[in-house]
Amino acid sequence: MSDKIKFKIDGKECFAEPGQNVLDAATDNGIYIPALCHMKGIKPAGSCRLCNVKIAGRVMTACTTPVAAGMEIENNIPEINDLRLSIIEMLFVEGNHFCPSCEKSGNCELQALAYKYQMMVPRFPYEFPIKEIDASSPKLIIERNRCILCKRCIRAFKDENGKNIFAFKKRGHKLEINIDAKLAENLSDEDAQRAMDICPVGAIIRKEKGFDEPIGTRKYDKVAIGSDIESVIE
Ligand code: SF4
Repeated sequence: MSDKIKFKIDGKECFAEPGQNVLDAATDNGIYIPALCHMKGIKPAGSCRLCNVKIAGRVMTACTTPVAAGMEIENNIPEINDLRLSIIEMLFVEGNHFCPSCEKSGNCELQALAYKYQMMVPRFPYEFPIKEIDASSPKLIIERNRCILCKRCIRAFKDENGKNIFAFKKRGHKLEINIDAKLAENLSDEDAQRAMDICPVGAIIRKEKGFDEPIGTRKYDKVAIGSDIESVIE
């Protein structure tokens, strides 16, 4: 007998592996739940809050909530979509995101989500914070103006000896991403590309390679974010 767990998202019957979180299970069932901090295969952090869904009337992060039998989840509903849009707007005003001049434009998950949720003028005032760029490592530029503090680089990127290269420094609104200068010296081109790909925005940029692929032919220039998941199972 199958040990799969039965549950529902927006009324659609879904199945999950025991212990699987709602976000990964939704993806496996062809349902897109947005997330910026989550990547399949790494421990969920629940930090970006974009994967908020409603379960039994409570708003919860899908990446940190295990599926339970009979769970009924509301995902694509106006209340949750507006909450997601407000988080996207907040991320834009908290940093300095100038998409037309960003090397990651078209490959940026934040930009793609702003299009998906039809962001116009954010409801919050722009902060225009002053942030330092770190271009000291041989292969990477750390562009803190675009960092959304999702922690993906810290959780998903290790060097060949399993050591963290990225880490947070400072606290509160001064929290910032840093790169270990010594370890960064030994990064290969492949490592640098992997780090750039892990970052959902344009905060980790490979030196001299950022604009290799022309704007207009990049990932989200061609396919809206999430549509690859939604087209897997119909
Ligand atoms: S540098 Fe990129 S991956 Fe790392 S915390 Fe900032 S936004 Fe997230």
